[in-house]
Amino acid sequence: MARRYRQRKGEAYLNYSRQYEKAVSDIRTKVNLEKEHIAKIQADSDTVKIVYPEFKDSFEYVDRIFPNSKVKEATIYRARKRLLDECGYEGVGGFYHRMFKIIVIPEKRNWSSAKGAIRAKVTDDEVIVHELLHYCSHEMGQAKGSVDVEEEFAYGWSSSYLSSKGYRDEDIVKNNFLPYLYTVFHNDRNPFVSAALKDMGRSSVPRTQSGQEKLGKKVHSLILEASMKKGLKIIELYRRKMDERMNPKDLEETVDIQEERGGFLDLDF
Ligand SMILES: [Zn+2]
Repeated sequence: MARRYRQRKGEAYLNYSRQYEKAVSDIRTKVNLEKEHIAKIQADSDTVKIVYPEFKDSFEYVDRIFPNSKVKEATIYRARKRLLDECGYEGVGGFYHRMFKIIVIPEKRNWSSAKGAIRAKVTDDEVIVHELLHYCSHEMGQAKGSVDVEEEFAYGWSSSYLSSKGYRDEDIVKNNFLPYLYTVFHNDRNPFVSAALKDMGRSSVPRTQSGQEKLGKKVHSLILEASMKKGLKIIELYRRKMDERMNPKDLEETVDIQEERGGFLDLDF
């Protein structure tokens, strides 16, 4: 079949076909590599397998929000950080692997060692809540949105869990959401650079090193400010969503007989 097509459509098809085959083979290589890595993580003698009812609070919190996604069936692997680095999952705070349907979290997370680094300060139960929420999003087939939408979903729905641990909203953003939000804004930092320049009363980037450092600091603090604001907004929004989900408004449906009569549903005719 493919051969016949190839002859008919000629050179263009051949090119397309070669590209297609190359793409398929690239994906196959990538998948095989991922398979290898996941197998390596699972087989490592230091890897710990976590299933419900371990981390009961995390599982049950997520299960209560999304009871249909069978989150208690999820399997989590807690692996050596070095091993994750070796497998190309460098510096990740945990991830949900779509294809293998497993969650992997690093054994130890670096807690802001480097000066000025923005790192999450999260505990295992918190990472697990976040990743289980990704799991639900995929199980419910909702994970079609962008990475941003997906992350907002996980961060947003985890905020009530974090609040229940007694954290203030500002601390939730600072310790949990900030590294992600900062990266998002930093990747798209032109408006912040413009704002910083305006603040400095300049129309262009300074040439001197000290000027550039000053600009850098200003941009950094503007991005921090925006990230904090955005984080607080997410918490507020999902607190409302959570409230609606946990306390659905009573359906106080009443039928006003008089009105029904007077309306198009005239049963007396
Ligand atoms: Zn995430």
